[in-house]
Amino acid sequence: MQQKPDFRKELAETAQKICTPGKGILAADESQGTIGKKFVAINVENNEENRRAYRELLFTAPGIENYISGVILFSETVKHATKDGKNFVQLLQEKGIVAGIKVDKGLGVLPGTQDESATLGLDSLASMAAEHYKLGCRFAKWRAVLKIGNGLPSQQAIQENAWGLARYAAICQENGLVPIVEPEILADGDHSIEVCQKVTEKVLAAVFKALNENNIFLEGCLLKPNMVTAGSTNADRNKITPQEIGYRTALALSRTVPPALVGVTFLSGGQSEEEASLNLNAMNQLTTVRKPWALTFSYGRALQNTAVKTWAGKQENWEAGQQALLTRAKANSEAQLGKYQG
Ligand code: 13P
Repeated sequence: MQQKPDFRKELAETAQKICTPGKGILAADESQGTIGKKFVAINVENNEENRRAYRELLFTAPGIENYISGVILFSETVKHATKDGKNFVQLLQEKGIVAGIKVDKGLGVLPGTQDESATLGLDSLASMAAEHYKLGCRFAKWRAVLKIGNGLPSQQAIQENAWGLARYAAICQENGLVPIVEPEILADGDHSIEVCQKVTEKVLAAVFKALNENNIFLEGCLLKPNMVTAGSTNADRNKITPQEIGYRTALALSRTVPPALVGVTFLSGGQSEEEASLNLNAMNQLTTVRKPWALTFSYGRALQNTAVKTWAGKQENWEAGQQALLTRAKANSEAQLGKYQG
């Protein structure tokens, strides 16, 4: 049998680099359908050139590398270039930013459940991971989704998604990509913050058990969880402080995530840009819970919402759009250090 290369040293270095203090991840890996929703809102046609141009705006924002250590790309974008012909992965590498690739193929219904989901894409994952390593990507993302409400998430969905994340992580590590393990518990619903904390702890415990059973090298792996918040339609949602969100999130992690893991890179999950920065900041300021990992951001909407609206597809708004991105990137960089003033 041919000996597989041992990527462990490189995996650990990649994970450490992504978790450089004061830096985090820009999630720019929206599928064509998801970016289409952003473009409809600003009246921009969802075609390949507009998707390329928008990503060029993001990646060429001057000084972005001061705040961003990694960018997650959608497969189409990996082969795109600036209008001057510089490939995006190369452009990011030259800025010292690690390029990553979304490798899941979206969600399918999990039979035998109340419309819960499993993530698709394991069959073709090994070849996709190997191809993207050759193209210069060094980390990957796979999103699993769980829902709260009416007795959900079911044990079946928790188990299936934990196992799927672990299978994905093993395939990525064999191919030199740091897996970002993303078990997203949606904020949809009117559940309390206590319920979200309980479910988050259950899900993360199952995920780390499955990672262990699949021999995942935690020093070369990252976790991308939701923060612990009340449901988006919970009546008390707006009364809950960033300090409580930070405390409950860090507590849930401290009970379930081994210290060998390098970092936790949160998704923003529909929080406003400001909320996402304040919550991350509160977590990093917290001193009453053990936090042996880097706590940083891997935000999509909470970095891009104002930027995309400011740009609105117009060349004359290019620099203003970049400034809007830089404003949020700087805020989250400060929040990673616990120094964001709001
Ligand atoms: P949001 O920060 O917009 O939730 O997206 C992050 C992401 O990559 C979801 O998979």
